Formats: sequence, structure tokens, C-alpha cells
Amino acid sequence: MPVWKLQDVSFAYISGRKVLSAITLKFFPGHIYGILGPNGSGKTTLLDLLGGLGAPGAGNILYNGRSLGDYGTAALARRVALVPQDFLVRFPFKVRDVVEMGLHPHLGRFALPSREDMDRVTGIMEELDIHGLADRPVTMLSGGEKQRVAVARALVQAREALLFDEATSNLDIFHSLSILDAVKRRAVEQGLCVVAAVHDINLAAVFCDELVFLKDGMVVAKGTPGSVLSPELVRYVYNVDARVGTDEFTGRPAVSFRLAGSW
Ligand code: ADP
Ligand code: MG
Repeated sequence: MPVWKLQDVSFAYISGRKVLSAITLKFFPGHIYGILGPNGSGKTTLLDLLGGLGAPGAGNILYNGRSLGDYGTAALARRVALVPQDFLVRFPFKVRDVVEMGLHPHLGRFALPSREDMDRVTGIMEELDIHGLADRPVTMLSGGEKQRVAVARALVQAREALLFDEATSNLDIFHSLSILDAVKRRAVEQGLCVVAAVHDINLAAVFCDELVFLKDGMVVAKGTPGSVLSPELVRYVYNVDARVGTDEFTGRPAVSFRLAGSW
């Protein structure tokens, strides 16, 4: 059974202007899905709907076979974690405390985290290379460090599914690869379902099992990186010339780009 099943989903922030149109998709456990498309194509809106932050104007979204709208916020938070595009914490919480917030949906009202919970938090902080920042206020971190804290909090929280909204966009290549690797391991070993908006097509081609391309709020292509990536698609979606080959180092499909008609 798919984790999410979207049937003819449409959404508009302002009536009459559809941001998503007739989206029909399934997301399965243990898979990593990359949502790609130009700025404004609807990636964030789609992830927010999957995270229960809004309700579709038309169509329906099922989560584990039940209407997503039937889950309460707390019940959904125990299953799905979202790393937002801009992770903002205005209060100077310590890094460790922010990561521990990922435990809250799983604790009883007055319960304290167990030893095991604390070890999990420590392990994830080490994995994401932020254990050295544990006592620093989050307000005093660089953009990339903050991003890693947001991902760590989400990994602590996520038990079934993870939504990533450009969670690696501010990161250097080492930290991007480390995070994607940590996510991949959880998909493979624990069956986590991951839906990630990614800007970098080549990074997506390395880590995602399937790519979904959006343009003007519509799904224009979906499938494995090898089956879906083509110069025609890239030109149609992004309006740039592209060449698609296989990267001999990673063995994955790779795309190079050129502005149409440039020198
Ligand atoms: P992406 O993440 O692919 O860049 P978004 O989902 O953020 O795209 O935005 C899709 C479209 O919805 C854009 O045209 C954007 O201007 C519009 N939009 C996003 N958020 C809002 C909002 N809160 N109110 C009105 N329009 C919005
Ligand atoms: Mg976005």
C-alpha cells in the first residue's frame, strides 16, 4: 500500500489561480522521490499538502489508506516529519534542544525522553556532524548549520515518512551527500518514505528512486531518473538546452546544461 496516494489533487491559494492541478501520484515506503521543477512550479505547496498543512481544494489525499484530513496534527506528527524550505527559529534554543523537539510527538504528555531516545538524538547529531554545536544557540549558526539542525530534528521525529523542502540547498557538497546518505539508509533499512524537493537534478539522479517533474502546477513527467531524464524534458521544463549522459564516476544519469542560444 502506498504511504500517500493523491487522486486528482488541485490547490489554489487565491480562488481562480490554481497552483496545483489534477495531481495523481503514489509514494511508496522505502523509496526516495525527488520533486523537481522551476521556481514557482508548486513543489513547496505539494509538500505542505502532503504534510497536512493545507487541504486540497479538489481531489483527495490518502495516507496509509485513510483520508489525510482525518489525522489529527499530533497523530500525523508521529508519522511524518517536514524539513521546511526556510527553517526559522527566532528564540535562541540550544541546538541539542531543537533536535530533541523531534521526540515530542512521541512522548506522553508529561513523559521524559528515555535513555534510548537520548542515544538516538546523539547518534543523529553525530551522523549530521552537529554534535560539536550541541550547546550553541540555533540563532547563532550559519545557514548551512541551521539546515543540518532542521534535518536532524526531522530524522529524530520521522518514523514513517519524511518531507524535505530543499533541505540540502544551503549545504556544501560533503554535508549534502552526508544528509542524503543518512536518508537513503533509513529508506533502505527502515522503509522510510522520502519525498524531497530538490533543485539539483544531478544530485536527485544519484539519490532518488523516482523523479517527479512539475511545471505550472502540473506533473509533466515521472519515473526513474534513467527513464525520465531527456534533453527534451529538461528543455520543456526549464527552457535550457541540455545533454543527458551517464556519469562514469557515479554510474548515474547526469545532465549538463547550457542557456539556449548562448555562446
Ligand atoms: P516552488 O516551491 O516550486 O518554488 P511554490 O509551491 O512555493 O513553488 O509556489 C507555487 C505558486 O504558488 C507560486 O506561483 C507562488 O507565487 C504561489 N504561492 C506560494 N505561496 C503562496 C501564498 N501563501 N499565497 C499566494 N500564493 C502563493
Ligand atoms: Mg519551494
